[in-house]
Amino acid sequence: MKRWLILLLILGVSGVALYYAQRQKETPVGPQAIVNALAQTEREISRVPAGMVRLSDSEEISAGEAMAQNYVAQRGTLSAADVAIENYVGEVGGVVAGHARRKLIYKFHYIPNANFVNAFALPGGHVFLGKGMLQLMDSEDELASVLGHEVEHIENYHCNERIALEARLRHLPLGGLVTLPIQLFQVGYSKEQEMEADRDGTTLAVMAGYSPQGAIRMFQAFAKLQHTYVTKAQSPDQELSRVAIQGIVGYFRSHPLPEEREAQIRRIMVSRNWPQPQEKKLRVGPEPAKTASTKPVS
Ligand SMILES: [Zn+2]
Repeated sequence: MKRWLILLLILGVSGVALYYAQRQKETPVGPQAIVNALAQTEREISRVPAGMVRLSDSEEISAGEAMAQNYVAQRGTLSAADVAIENYVGEVGGVVAGHARRKLIYKFHYIPNANFVNAFALPGGHVFLGKGMLQLMDSEDELASVLGHEVEHIENYHCNERIALEARLRHLPLGGLVTLPIQLFQVGYSKEQEMEADRDGTTLAVMAGYSPQGAIRMFQAFAKLQHTYVTKAQSPDQELSRVAIQGIVGYFRSHPLPEEREAQIRRIMVSRNWPQPQEKKLRVGPEPAKTASTKPVS
């Protein structure tokens, strides 16, 4: 009787192993596959009950600092024009982060890569913005909303909890956290955390004097991108490179629907009676960011 049980158990385990081996085979290789796999893992991890360990502020800051330094070193030296853009991003980010609750030193970095249609935050206060994302904007209010969103991933301990969890899962000592792949912070968080970063990030931007229309028009630009490159997929009139499109597809796989994000901000805008000052024009040059015709007007 016992032997039968053991045999059944072996058969069961082999079946499961075979199933996973088969699934692995179907997974395409390449950097995007890694990002997608990470996004999947993160979605599974995000179901782990809350109340997990967090790093202390000083641990979070030193881990984030080391990761940011590594990443900036890989990015290489910026051209004079890109330094000017980075300073501008830092100026807007500084004003927005001035209203943050956690008293951290926020630093804003620019990644001059048009294929990088994303922004992300590292633990401790570092925010990175890709050229591809900046090119979607035409107002400073949009920039403020994106930077506010990233600041709020730090403020609300989303980055801290992610790094703490990874450290635990991988049995890494504090000094080893710098070896974590940066993609862990680029793939997005749980839906609840993304919606929270939208709410609090737009609130920061509004407190800094920006219009919530910036966030709304950003979500509309995302919706247009999603429609062009994800829903319709590979339209013949596509203007972006394959790498950029892969990034966009990955972004929408790990973020809530832009329409939902827009609806949430519209609800809050009404309930809190947010002021809607005229949006400020984006001050980046000499390369024009985006022509008015490529973006829906709200
Ligand atoms: Zn986010």
